[in-house]
Amino acid sequence: MIRTRFAPSPTGSLHVGNARLAVLNWIFARHSNGSFVLRIEDTDEERNLEGSDAQILEDLSWLGLKWDEGPTSKGEVGAFGPYRQSGRTKLHQEHAKQLLQRRYAFNCYCTDEELDARREAAIARGDSATYDGTCLRRSPSEIRELITEGRLPAIRFHVAPGDYIIVEDVIRGNVHFPRADIGDFIILRSNGQPTYNFAVVVDDIMMDITHVIRGVGHLSNTPRQALVFDAFGAQRPVFAHVPQVLGPDRQKLSKRHGAPSLADYRRLGYHPDGLVNYLSLLSWSTASGEEVLTREQLVSEISLERVGAADVVFDPAKLDFLSAKHIERMSMDDLVRAIEPFVDRDRFAFTDEQLSVAVKAVRTHLVAFSKINEFLPAFVPIDYVPLNPLRERESAVPVLEAARTRLSDVKWDVGAIAEAIKAVGKQTGASGKALYEPVRLALTGDEHGSPLNAIIFVQGREVVVHALDRALEALKELT
Ligand code: GLU
Repeated sequence: MIRTRFAPSPTGSLHVGNARLAVLNWIFARHSNGSFVLRIEDTDEERNLEGSDAQILEDLSWLGLKWDEGPTSKGEVGAFGPYRQSGRTKLHQEHAKQLLQRRYAFNCYCTDEELDARREAAIARGDSATYDGTCLRRSPSEIRELITEGRLPAIRFHVAPGDYIIVEDVIRGNVHFPRADIGDFIILRSNGQPTYNFAVVVDDIMMDITHVIRGVGHLSNTPRQALVFDAFGAQRPVFAHVPQVLGPDRQKLSKRHGAPSLADYRRLGYHPDGLVNYLSLLSWSTASGEEVLTREQLVSEISLERVGAADVVFDPAKLDFLSAKHIERMSMDDLVRAIEPFVDRDRFAFTDEQLSVAVKAVRTHLVAFSKINEFLPAFVPIDYVPLNPLRERESAVPVLEAARTRLSDVKWDVGAIAEAIKAVGKQTGASGKALYEPVRLALTGDEHGSPLNAIIFVQGREVVVHALDRALEALKELT
């Protein structure tokens, strides 16, 4: 059974790069009928941000990435818990002791000061800066003395000499790491806290994780982790280190590149399917090249072998495009329901029917639900006559007059209104701009914008007729 995991540290709302890892792990688990595990890696107390653990659960739920196991707002779900790393310290300690007993690891009594001094001296000599093996050479009496002094040991993993540690990676092939560069590394600090490289492996083993899909930033940690898997006699998982997401300047992606957090996208009302679509396709493409894909399509088409190794550049315009496409595909009912909470009710006091006509008229232009507020002003009546632009249009008076008459008693629905405007064209001989611009100007003050029949419908008969009268009066006063 395939088991993937997403293992964020609770340092705030998920950002694009991290969310994409969640997306890939989720899609791949679904594709394989496997399980998607959420593990919160909250052992770095200095970096933990209060409340961000709940924020991550919210972000994932909003994206629709349901996890099969892990913490939830109602407690933990799954048979492999605890799923918060801080609750697993005892397990990590026991596992470190096992490696100690089996001599894969040793007690290290060196202090930070001693380590620093020796490292600096080694660098000055042009030697390797890795651990120099001091504690492997100490005599039992020396060790007893250090213990009497009150020194508490860290547990250090011993990297046996040899040529290379080879990490097999689905995306990158076999990556060779010279053993000499790795050096004996700490797995349990003297305060009893595990290091990342150790805790992550113990947890991946105990949680039966089969595929580790994560950012390439962790590739350099992987040889150490691979050795820990080996030491426990556990099968190494399949590793897939996915490329970084960069800003357009090819620097690490951050907020200044206009890459908001998921919480921001949610506040703006991006379509979660659009985000899942965009984030998933950041480093692979489908065989057909089709880019607008539902979750089901992504799940059926994903293949780790198709993921490329090259860094990718975040493209907000493409994300907007995909979000808009997914919004366009929604049913009208779902769309209106999704948009309602985003409408600025202080400015737009529309009835349900008015809102739904306006939404229908602009739906193909919506990148996010909140953007409705940029389109709605045209549906609100203006309280002035845009006299200058109107007087420049020769057709204004006859068109406005005919429109006034027809709109006074047409059946009030968008279809009939559209027909009425066409009839105005026939009657006056005006077409195109000469027909539409005078009416649009009189009602909205703008030359172009959303479909006119929808605007007329939403403004309402009384308001429209009044605005046309008012414009006609003003125009006639000029002559
Ligand atoms: N907690 C780690 C991070 O947020 C993830 C480690 C991993 O995926 O192995 O970078």
